[in-house]
Amino acid sequence: MVVNLPDEVLYKVEKPARYIGNEMNSVHKEPQSVKIRFAFCFPDVYEVGMSHLGMKILYHMLNEREDTYCERVFAPWTDMEEQMRKRDIPLFALESKEAVTYFDFVGFTLQYEMSFTNIINMLDLAKIPIKATERKEENPFVILGGPCAYNSEPLWEIADIVVLGESEEALNELMDLYIKWKENNKPRKEFLKAASSLKGVYIPAFYDVEYNDDGTIKKLFPIDEAPQTVSKRFIKRLDDSYFPKDIIVPYTEIVHDRIMLEVFRGCTRGCRFCQAGFIYRPVREKSRKKLMSDAASLIENTGYEELSLTSLSICDYSDIKGLVNDLIENYEESKVGISLPSLRIDSFSVDLINEIQKVRKTGLTFAPEAGSQRMRDVINKGVTEEDLMKSTSDAFKLGWSNIKLYFMIGLPGETFEDIEGIAALAYKVMDEYYKVPKEQRKKGLNITVSTSSFVPKAFTPFQWEPQNTMEELKEKQYFLKNKIKSKQITYNWHASPVSFLEGIFARGDRKLSKVLINAWEKGCKFDGWDEHFKFDLWMEAFEECGIDPAFYANRRREYDEILPWDHLNIGIPKEYLINEHKKSMEENLTTDCREGCHSCGILEFEKSGVCFDGALSS
Ligand code: SF4
Repeated sequence: MVVNLPDEVLYKVEKPARYIGNEMNSVHKEPQSVKIRFAFCFPDVYEVGMSHLGMKILYHMLNEREDTYCERVFAPWTDMEEQMRKRDIPLFALESKEAVTYFDFVGFTLQYEMSFTNIINMLDLAKIPIKATERKEENPFVILGGPCAYNSEPLWEIADIVVLGESEEALNELMDLYIKWKENNKPRKEFLKAASSLKGVYIPAFYDVEYNDDGTIKKLFPIDEAPQTVSKRFIKRLDDSYFPKDIIVPYTEIVHDRIMLEVFRGCTRGCRFCQAGFIYRPVREKSRKKLMSDAASLIENTGYEELSLTSLSICDYSDIKGLVNDLIENYEESKVGISLPSLRIDSFSVDLINEIQKVRKTGLTFAPEAGSQRMRDVINKGVTEEDLMKSTSDAFKLGWSNIKLYFMIGLPGETFEDIEGIAALAYKVMDEYYKVPKEQRKKGLNITVSTSSFVPKAFTPFQWEPQNTMEELKEKQYFLKNKIKSKQITYNWHASPVSFLEGIFARGDRKLSKVLINAWEKGCKFDGWDEHFKFDLWMEAFEECGIDPAFYANRRREYDEILPWDHLNIGIPKEYLINEHKKSMEENLTTDCREGCHSCGILEFEKSGVCFDGALSS
């Protein structure tokens, strides 16, 4: 059913381009010609969702299948929602403008805990029952994926299916299975049963949890013959995996309006706070040849004049210099700019960015993450003050004067001395600027110090650590603010209530599902947006549900406690994470895997030696 979207609705909303679709390279199919309708939903606005690389890959990959029509759906902004509810317009897909309630699958990507209420809101707007148990045979299957799927327990009542890990292969297998199931006309549960036997597919309803009196988990067990544990999926050879030859070019400005060329997956650094560094192991690199061919098609098919090399720690790509040189050589004349999303704190990276930004030098961002060496050792951020001073000094000599420094506060075992170290480091960077002769340095020094609040995440060595309370974080933020007096240093920080909420859901269990639904009923949505975040309503929801939020955010867990995600397997045994946690408390470093493997377990997990060595094929 095509929804009625009159022009007067579009006139009334702030950005109509969010809802009209039909952009260059969007895919349009005859709905009757396919067997599967898939609504790829991003639980945030168009500009954010359209910047997401995973969506670009999966949208085009699913549409390569003749039997499947994948369309995009974004969270309508509040002005559009008001119009939709007033006129009874259900949530619709951008390509066909058909109501998503008639689709076979509604898939959400979970990028950020603060988008969870938007998922509920979108299901409600779509008129799809919010709880999986209330869905009927004719309702779509709700699939969740993305990084937060590694602990999607707070959404367990909402999801029919969770895909764990990189979903390219698992989604294709699910689609094949669905076609067979549909042909056989079997009940809904039969499909879920069959799906649960696929690697990387987790059906929350097939697991049950018992709790101890103190609220911790007593027992977490499969029912209905589901597997004991569900293991993540990952693509072994990225050169052979699907990457789109074109991407949609939006009519309106989006957050990352450029080509994103994915260079490799995984990271060898082993920073102990970083969930991505653990869940995306092992490292797999694409060859330079493959990357050059992907870049050529994307540039030709989109007309974009900026290409960003995308990966976790991009300067670690074994052939980064060769790749950047090739890209500059091939595209300098046609004025396609190259950008790097993150820099390593070393001279090599500064030289590299200097190659790229020869003429127009925009700001440079470095992430020392912690102010003192002690703290950097605790989190295994293998950089020294010397590295930072050398890199920033090089940058000032080469003509940069705008430097951003990223830190975290609230790290395990942090003291006020460590916080003071952040200010001290910023001042030392300032000194490096003035050491450069006046005629050589660029005018207008500007150092921005940004701190985010540390949120312990599942599947990291810090998963047992208590998060700092909001009061502790606030005190640290004010302390640091008072230590920074220079006009050339700007200090930005994130509000602690959002981090508190993020911390609760990042390590939450199934009991939080009712809080989520209750908070949404009270009007919580777009929680990641300052203007919509309603902390008081959230606290009311916790109280009404009889749940103490501090139990999830601020409590230390023991190593033998059963964690809500213990039945999910990322390929790295708990013992390895415990060992890393112990090393952190002793302030001991674990070196970069490229200097020698630490046997984290991921290679035995797949029974094949990939990781970074085997991935090099250029
Ligand atoms: S297998 Fe070895 S090299 Fe690969 S991520 Fe694990 S510890 Fe690092």
